[in-house]
Amino acid sequence: MKVKPYVKNAIFLVWILLVPAGTWLIYKAYPPNFTGHWLDIFAFLLLTCVVAAMPIVINEMFIFLIQWVALATFLRFGLFVEIIFAQIAVIVLLLKLRILRKGELFRLPINLNMFFLVSCTSGGVYYLLGGQTGPNITFDSKSLWLAILYAVVSYSMNQIIVSFNLYFIYKSKESYFGKDFIVETITTFITFPIGLVLYILYDQVGILALLFVGVPFVSLSMIFRLYYSSEKINEYLQKSSEIGHQMAERLKVDDVVELLILKLSEMLPVDYAYILEVKEDELILVRGIEGGVPNELPPVKKNQGISGMVWGEQKTLIYSARKEWRQYSNGHIPEDAESILGVPIVRSKKVIGVLLLASKRKRAFENFQLMIIDILCSHFAVAIENAKHYELTKMQSEHCSLTKLFNYRYFENMLTEEFEKLMRFERRTLSLILLDIDHFKIVNDTYGHQSGNEILFELANRLSKLVGDRGTVARYGGEEFVVLLPDTAKEEAYQMAEQIRQMISNWPFTLKQSLDIDNTQQKVMITASIGVATAPEDAEDALALIRHADRALYVGAKRAGRNRVAEYSSC
Ligand code: GH3
Ligand code: MG
Ligand code: MG
Repeated sequence: MKVKPYVKNAIFLVWILLVPAGTWLIYKAYPPNFTGHWLDIFAFLLLTCVVAAMPIVINEMFIFLIQWVALATFLRFGLFVEIIFAQIAVIVLLLKLRILRKGELFRLPINLNMFFLVSCTSGGVYYLLGGQTGPNITFDSKSLWLAILYAVVSYSMNQIIVSFNLYFIYKSKESYFGKDFIVETITTFITFPIGLVLYILYDQVGILALLFVGVPFVSLSMIFRLYYSSEKINEYLQKSSEIGHQMAERLKVDDVVELLILKLSEMLPVDYAYILEVKEDELILVRGIEGGVPNELPPVKKNQGISGMVWGEQKTLIYSARKEWRQYSNGHIPEDAESILGVPIVRSKKVIGVLLLASKRKRAFENFQLMIIDILCSHFAVAIENAKHYELTKMQSEHCSLTKLFNYRYFENMLTEEFEKLMRFERRTLSLILLDIDHFKIVNDTYGHQSGNEILFELANRLSKLVGDRGTVARYGGEEFVVLLPDTAKEEAYQMAEQIRQMISNWPFTLKQSLDIDNTQQKVMITASIGVATAPEDAEDALALIRHADRALYVGAKRAGRNRVAEYSSC
């Protein structure tokens, strides 16, 4: 709902031209009935302000229950006083709802204009049909009907102007006649008799009437508010337990983090969100979202900046405006942030991270939300620990612990998958390089098993570097390695195998653990024999591809003298 600047200016202009002059005319045409004490008028104004400041909130919908006070004020003091009170009530309500932010100020004249028009039409109709205001109205059937008419006109005008505003100013496409409309209609007519009672009682007992009617009404509003706020907390609690379950189901750390950020931005007015993780003596940003865009932040030390404070003190923090936290910030929180909510993420009584949320709005977060976020953070801590554990176990089950390469089990699955892709014509070719170190037993016997391991480790690194993202390197077994190359033709695979052979035979391997007599690190020269096979030309299934590469390796390379590359078709 974006309102254009010229429309906003026009709304201000309408108020300036319409309301002061209009009010003065009304004063002249229908002078107020100031028969009571000034204190009485002040008491009515006070009641108006209290009721205006206590709108009932149901499902994020505000119900403004001022009509009954307006009716009593109108009947007792006349249209002029009612207009002034209504204008003040609008200001109180908007201040209370905190919607008079920069850029939203035009909402004030919109509502002031609306209330002015509503007051004028309903009061005007009442007077034109011969209605009286002032003390001692006897409620015969005619004046009762007129009072009812006053309420109906006031209510209808209100609805007409609200629909007009929604359609022409806010350009809202939503139908106005929804749930809000029904609730508003019912409450308006339920509260109508209270207005009449207030008028009559005021005539009888004076200022005490305001207490008799006002106190029960205000108490009821408070009970309503309490009820709905506990309903709201319940709803949040339910939502957070749902999110907790969803997080527990995620197996990847990134997915858990992503889910938390997403759900938090759905639940709360969050413009900036950061999840930081404690790593040794620093807080490292895991995920930061600024206006929906990811961003980076440098590491933070304990007690440094706001997140450092949350970590150091192990306490939740809530700020409603920039001036409250500016002195603690180390300058990483965006300029336009106002409200901040910081929660430590605790697992086994240790802070493992910090969640920081910020909003451009002042007083965007409420205390009860802090409690909900706290609960969410403990779910999050457990979910993250599980996901980390799962990722580690998965990693270990797929990798060889010595070389850190993928193991045979992983390779076998990948080969099957890649072969299926080849069968579905998603790949044109699939090449496989199989490598076996020559006379490795002798290397072990000469330098020791540990040195043999070092060579295997360095060879694994060299292979990974050379292959890069062109394929996948895995440890096939003992001193045998395999490279799987999707979409790589035989010629290309052969060239790569040759590069690998030279990379092994031309550069000595350094043994870090063993020193020779001169105290210098020992270097060992080794060679490897390599077999290459490519599907679909050399093999019709995955096992045949391995078998044929193996055959090329043993028959074409080993038997032919070692330190060479052989392809399946040539042997
Ligand atoms: P060639 O392949 O040239 O025929 O001779 P080779 O000596 O390499 O023979 P073979 O492939 O049969 O022997 C493999 C040797 O590799 C046996 C074993 O001692 C060694 N080996 C296997 N796995 C490891 C390992 O994890 N660490 C070390 N250090 N040695 C290993
Ligand atoms: Mg071998
Ligand atoms: Mg060997």
